[in-house]
Amino acid sequence: MSKAALIWFLLGLGLLLGACDEAPKQSAAKGDAAAALKAHGKLFTKEVLTPVPGIHVAVGYGLANVIMIEGEDGVIIVDTLESRSRAAEALAALRQVSAKPVKAIILTHNHADHIYGAQVFAGGQDIPVYAHQSTSDHIDRIINVLVNSIYRRSMAMFGQLLPQGLVLNDGIGPDLKTVTEELALLRPSKTFEKRLDVTIAGVKLQLHHAPGETDDQLFVWLPRRKILLPGDNIYQTFPNLYTIRGTAHRDVMQWVRSLDKMRDLGAEVLVPSHTRPLVGGKQVAETLTAYRDGMQYVHDQTVRGMNLGLGPEQLVEFVYLPPHLAEHPWLAEHYGTVRWSVRAVFNGYLGWFSGDAVDLDPLSPGERARQLQAAFADSKSIPAQARAALSAGRYQWAAELSRYWRLNDPDAGEADEVMAAALTALGERSGNPNARNWYLTQAHELRGELEIGKPDPSVLPADMLDGLPIAPFMAGMSTRLKAEDALDTDLLARFEFSDEDRVFSMHIRRGVAALRETATPNPDIHIKTTARTWKRIVTKQRNPALAFASDEIDAEGGVAGIVKFLSLFER
Ligand SMILES: [Zn+2]
Repeated sequence: MSKAALIWFLLGLGLLLGACDEAPKQSAAKGDAAAALKAHGKLFTKEVLTPVPGIHVAVGYGLANVIMIEGEDGVIIVDTLESRSRAAEALAALRQVSAKPVKAIILTHNHADHIYGAQVFAGGQDIPVYAHQSTSDHIDRIINVLVNSIYRRSMAMFGQLLPQGLVLNDGIGPDLKTVTEELALLRPSKTFEKRLDVTIAGVKLQLHHAPGETDDQLFVWLPRRKILLPGDNIYQTFPNLYTIRGTAHRDVMQWVRSLDKMRDLGAEVLVPSHTRPLVGGKQVAETLTAYRDGMQYVHDQTVRGMNLGLGPEQLVEFVYLPPHLAEHPWLAEHYGTVRWSVRAVFNGYLGWFSGDAVDLDPLSPGERARQLQAAFADSKSIPAQARAALSAGRYQWAAELSRYWRLNDPDAGEADEVMAAALTALGERSGNPNARNWYLTQAHELRGELEIGKPDPSVLPADMLDGLPIAPFMAGMSTRLKAEDALDTDLLARFEFSDEDRVFSMHIRRGVAALRETATPNPDIHIKTTARTWKRIVTKQRNPALAFASDEIDAEGGVAGIVKFLSLFER
């Protein structure tokens, strides 16, 4: 199959899948959806939990949790809810378990549900407020720049103005109640860049910068008791890799790396700032791993699909979580969704434009409404209306209609021709060279007069290849994993690159290729070579069998193991 044919095959597949499934994938029958969301709401039952002695968590008093760490002669408060009254209620409940004075406040990040009750916990005392060095700037950005848009969008997303009873819960907490006159902010007074070690009330704490859900996110680690407070980098629902209330791009792989950093700690207790604590080293490790794998899966398969030529509308059909992740109790889509995440990953790398010339300058909503009204009044078939729009010179409408035509009948050559003619007309009428070139190129592609193809890595110049740093080269492999071929694979590959004295481990774990720059013990495949040779093998510049024969590469299992490993990736 040629590249173009493959893309059209995938598009057709996506469209067919889309056609027989009109509703978004995450929607269920009305009653089932409400029941599932209500069941999820049990996580927010209002109470103070003590998962292990000395750690108290006020759940359900606001959108987030308040965590109280009890020390010898005082307590440390981690996160402070969204308003004065909610903070006061949580504090009163926490005072039932300890009356020790508050010695410090830690803000895990800048979001409203964590910061705007801080004054209540300080109780008028001058106590230190710990946060990442960028947290204040993030608070100011919302207050000074985005206040109106974020306000509108937050009100809608959290349902704050809905009549009572309609909000079942908000996915990460019962509900959010921000009240402007109840903002009780304390600015961070003790900030750090990467890591801060501090002892408060006799409790040894490490604060680690861990960009993820926000760029200023931190986690708190209690090394003596192996207790991890991850902030909002993990909670019991699929993460908000994108939030529909609006956010700057969230770097998904940076977030995954932050979770890997947490996994390395070997925590026995996980106390997130939303949903409920998790106790047991095995459970914590398994949950952190599934969570980061779910995120990497969505990221990598989106990038893979982008490189196969898919746009956002096709990608949301192409990328789905396999059952072992989709059904994981911490990955149900009660906050973020896979589909929104796919769009966000696409947007983060390539921006708003889908890559389809029809989307360059779509009809305005008003114009589309007029055209649709005319189209329905005149009940000719879509092909007839597409032809008519073309001959009447309504080229954008002709392009949009012919896209529907092609969706309904992927084999209709005439649909391609009408779309090509419409795009050609749009291109010829555009004074913008970028737009003109895109319209005309796509029209030529539709007519089979041009094929863009893809770059051939096997002709990369040697100096270019040698200059490619090995770490991003290895990371790029992950995004080419053919996940559907690797869903039953559990394979650990270790790479020792002698020329650069570096070791990588790639764990192919049920559809995710997780890369670490460490020598993980007991690999299934142990590959010893140079970065130079490995880059040549992966880019098809060097035949692995020849490299093996001339001792440029060594692997237990021989060359067959290497070839089998490589066959799991797009190349
Ligand atoms: Zn939060």
